[in-house]
Amino acid sequence: MKLNKPLIIAGPCSAESEEQLLTTAQAVAATGKVDILRAGIWKPRTRPGAFEGAGVKALPWYAKAKEITGLPISTEVANAKHVEQAQAFDVDVFWIGARTTSNPFSTQEVAEALRGTEKMVFVKNPVSGDVDLWCGAVERLLACGVKNLGLIHRGFSGFGTGVLRNAPMWHIALEMRRRMPELPMICDPSHICGSREYIADITQQAADLNYDGLMIETHISPDEAWSDAKQQLTPEALSVLLDNVKWRAGESASESYKMALMGLREQIDTLDHEILRLLSERMNVAEQIGRIKRENDVRILQSARWADIMNRVLTSSHSLGLSEHFLRTMLDAVHVESIEHQNRVMKEE
Ligand code: PEP
Ligand code: MN
Repeated sequence: MKLNKPLIIAGPCSAESEEQLLTTAQAVAATGKVDILRAGIWKPRTRPGAFEGAGVKALPWYAKAKEITGLPISTEVANAKHVEQAQAFDVDVFWIGARTTSNPFSTQEVAEALRGTEKMVFVKNPVSGDVDLWCGAVERLLACGVKNLGLIHRGFSGFGTGVLRNAPMWHIALEMRRRMPELPMICDPSHICGSREYIADITQQAADLNYDGLMIETHISPDEAWSDAKQQLTPEALSVLLDNVKWRAGESASESYKMALMGLREQIDTLDHEILRLLSERMNVAEQIGRIKRENDVRILQSARWADIMNRVLTSSHSLGLSEHFLRTMLDAVHVESIEHQNRVMKEE
């Protein structure tokens, strides 16, 4: 399969019913901007009890969607049975999901089931930011003679992501690209964002980082979706998104500058998040001190203790590479806030 750049894959998170799949597929195809359909037939849910996919009965619906739209179809495979059943219905493109990439036993099983296939296989990043695990999945496929490979960056969980569902950690994806430069890498902003309001922004960042395409969850009526309702777009919104994203021509010099800058800004955001979290923890401790003082009838301000803290911090000004002025200003602000917290505790009784 010759890949367009940007390669656009779109369709629902899950195949739910024949009608939902066919109407979505037709509306997605009607945009004229999509190269490959997507739909999850088997859904790997982190917790049991959620919709686990329609399973094999959805494959004939999907084959029909392919026939009606003329578009190739793609789905997630997580074990040998999925591969066998999807092959039987002539699924054109496979992807390995984040949870599966995280497990070498599973990737090995899928790789063996796909042995020698000419079909395109995308490997999503593992749930954690472990580049070796991601590489390992690709290597297992290569060792089974699967040559048409691509990567999907869908973000990483467990990093205090703020508003996003999965932190993009762009530098990890870019490290993967550095290690496997011959593989196309597309971005899945839907799973990074978890909510549709951020998708345009993340999509543009992917375009600016020279990704080769996108996978975007699109549903005929997103709010009623049986999985990932908040992050799916309508076909119309998909069309607007694809019209607005700027695939700027890249010079390699400025591109590496952008990549470096993006990685560094992400580090800054992570550090800021951590600093604020620590400050909040510090205030909790101050409140505990306030409670002890209250119980023992001791006043809040103990000037000698504060002078000690200030002196200790100021002596490390040089080794920290932070000016005395900055340290004083920052510590004063922390002290004022601390006293306010203790005051509140004093008034509690
Ligand atoms: C999906 O593509 O619907 C999916 C389950 O994604 P991920 O493996 O990235 O969580
Ligand atoms: Mn999904």
